[in-house]
Amino acid sequence: MSIENDLSLVMDFDKNYCLQVFNLLPVAFTKGKGCYLYDMDGKKYLDMIGGIAVNCLGYGHPKLSSVVAKQAKDIMHACNYYYIPQKSELAYRLCRASFAEKVFFCNSGAEANEAAIKIARSYFYYKDINKYEIITADMSFHGRTMGTIAATGQAKFSRPFEPNVPGFVHVPYNDIDAMIEAVNPHTAAIMLELVQGESGVHPADAEYVKAVRKLCTEKGILFIVDEVQTGVGRTGKLFCYQHFGITPDIMTLAKGLGGGVPIGAMCCTNEVATGFRPGDHGSTFGGNPLACAAGSAVMEIFEDDNIIDNVRDVSADLFEKLNNLRAKYNCIRSVRGMGLLIGIEFDDTITAQGMREQLFTMGFLVSAIGKSTIRLAPPLIITKQQAASFVKALEKILKTVSGPQNVFDKIKNAFPSKKQAKDTVTKIGSAKIDKLDTLDATDNKQSAPADDDDE
Ligand code: PLP
Repeated sequence: MSIENDLSLVMDFDKNYCLQVFNLLPVAFTKGKGCYLYDMDGKKYLDMIGGIAVNCLGYGHPKLSSVVAKQAKDIMHACNYYYIPQKSELAYRLCRASFAEKVFFCNSGAEANEAAIKIARSYFYYKDINKYEIITADMSFHGRTMGTIAATGQAKFSRPFEPNVPGFVHVPYNDIDAMIEAVNPHTAAIMLELVQGESGVHPADAEYVKAVRKLCTEKGILFIVDEVQTGVGRTGKLFCYQHFGITPDIMTLAKGLGGGVPIGAMCCTNEVATGFRPGDHGSTFGGNPLACAAGSAVMEIFEDDNIIDNVRDVSADLFEKLNNLRAKYNCIRSVRGMGLLIGIEFDDTITAQGMREQLFTMGFLVSAIGKSTIRLAPPLIITKQQAASFVKALEKILKTVSGPQNVFDKIKNAFPSKKQAKDTVTKIGSAKIDKLDTLDATDNKQSAPADDDDE
């Protein structure tokens, strides 16, 4: 059985069988090539968000795909009781390319940050020093586990799950005085994103990052940089910390590292690595041959194809074009970011959600952050021409905006209301689910319970 080519059925199954934790657009992509995605009807979209900074080499990259396919045939998983050549190789590549001397592999950004938080505490524990507190920034985002929502400086992510894991302190971003004031004898680490991605693409000031590094060194505090979003070429250097002339003690990676295959990594110095002893930390899937082979292929392609040069080139061009638009249209409040991680903030006449949906109808994918900012994080192989086509589409929309809520109103007409969509899906979908159930002889489960939500 396959529901792959029937959107209404996919939507219905999703609604009935998946926890509803995302607001989804009514589309499913069945194929990707380069920087483009194709939906079930063959409509083409330029992906300006790259799976939220994951698909750094776009879709169907010939070398990455063939390495993954070969590795899937040879061996996908080998248990952590044994040596894994692909893990050793990727660890070597990451250390060679950065300040790091040891790497721990896991499967996601949140897990990489969990590892960072744990090692920052156990490092002092084994030295018999009573330091455990971790300072992070307001409006930061570090993941969705219990530890990382406590680290995250946005209460909306942790409120329903309280009580929070203790030992985290939040201070205003880019404010060195607040940071100095927050440090106390129990401070073990300072953890920062060098560009805050999830809260609207806010880069750190160079002086601030340098001052934080100095503070950490003077006070014997570990400096953790969360490069889950900014790492692996996204900002125009392989790792974002390299823009600032400093080195951290710990760096976390995920997203782009596997080019689409789930992987996370916590990279640290040999000194910090003394904080984990055998049995202190682990992950069943972490460091598996498939993910690590993908990671090494990504790193190799970056070198062979000068991907980072492309990031710098396209970024410079794109920033120039976007800033020109800003000069022309007052409704663009700001254009900010680094490399190919860019936030475009609008004034009250445009909602980010409305802009995202309008761009979507025109075949461009972006993400909306908060009320007024859209985020771009396209594949790092994007060309100047492709990026320019996005700017053209954006300008086309801006030209039509003549008053408050204009874009949003258009969108309301273009998309069915939640209730309309639900009625349609229920009507079409239920019939098809019944048909599928009878087709699928091996599935002897009861049919889905009726949807009993907020009608
Ligand atoms: N840290 C940062 C800076 C992120 O942007 C994200 C995800 O967006 C995470 C951590 C969490 O990563 P994951 O969703 O892979 O757990």
